[in-house]
Amino acid sequence: KNKLLEVKNLKKHFPVKQGFLNIGKKQMSVKAVNNVTFHIYEGETYGLVGESGCGKSTVGRSLLRLIEPTDGKVLYNGQDILNASKKNMLDIRQKVQMVFQDPYSSLNPRKRIGKIVEEPLIIHKIGIADERSDVVMETLSKVGLQLEHYYRYPHEFSGGQRQRIGLARALVLNPKLLIMDEPVSALDVSIQSQVINLLKKLQKDMSLGYLFISHDMSVVRYMADRIGVMYLGELVEEAPTDELFSNPMHPYTKALLSAVPSPDIERKKEEIVLKGDLPSPMNPPAGCKFHTRCPFAQKECKQNAPKKHKITEGHYVACHLYKE
Ligand code: SF4
Ligand code: MG
Repeated sequence: KNKLLEVKNLKKHFPVKQGFLNIGKKQMSVKAVNNVTFHIYEGETYGLVGESGCGKSTVGRSLLRLIEPTDGKVLYNGQDILNASKKNMLDIRQKVQMVFQDPYSSLNPRKRIGKIVEEPLIIHKIGIADERSDVVMETLSKVGLQLEHYYRYPHEFSGGQRQRIGLARALVLNPKLLIMDEPVSALDVSIQSQVINLLKKLQKDMSLGYLFISHDMSVVRYMADRIGVMYLGELVEEAPTDELFSNPMHPYTKALLSAVPSPDIERKKEEIVLKGDLPSPMNPPAGCKFHTRCPFAQKECKQNAPKKHKITEGHYVACHLYKE
């Protein structure tokens, strides 16, 4: 299968100004994202999960350089995004689109929906006016909106419909990959499932790849083909979705899954209740960053950061419990 997106050792470190905190002379930085590596195949959904503050949104925003990464590589179809020229970046931005949790804030309240959805076509200089409005109409119907909606304003729509408008705006450029950050988290449960089913249908019809960023394990389980679990800026486990849910290895993953009801899954229920809060990324624990909350932590965990171990094809875990 073709790798649509490759992310290699992605880092985003935010410098902390000297004197801002009482931390001596050393230049400090927050390692919001540290050495994150994964890839997304054409037409698949990769779920990125973890508690809020784990860095998953920063990963999402770094890929298209909404935030400039500190280091690493991001390749779209083999093209180097982080070193792309302006011209190449424009091409890539046509093929890779972002969808946010609350599209309302990005929808101009004074513009009609038709114009809002047309805008990306104008920015990318695609088509003449008549052609563009045809494409817009077609895209609105793809996301389940009606032609009459073309002339309405954003405030006339419900949350679920606004997310459809946000999707239309992303899809009008005929992209190959959508980066979605908590796309359904602001919606009521019944509306969530409508939007999720729409996303699945669109993916099939347009062979879209998705990066699906979410804190909601049930939603990700339904959406994703493979899942990466993040903790304090690092990927601690990665596996195909069924494998992750039936055979979670990392204690943090086990803790996340303990909180999700899943009566249909046969697994030795090792209930792990997370103790304590997510430590400050400003001052993360040494060794394994999860050791302050891990029921299995040993001496070694406090000293050495665990390396990634392969469990089976496609299943990786970074934890000292699993080295040979
Ligand atoms: Fe727990 Fe140690 Fe594994 Fe970290 S490396 S998750 S502290 S057992
Ligand atoms: Mg977030």
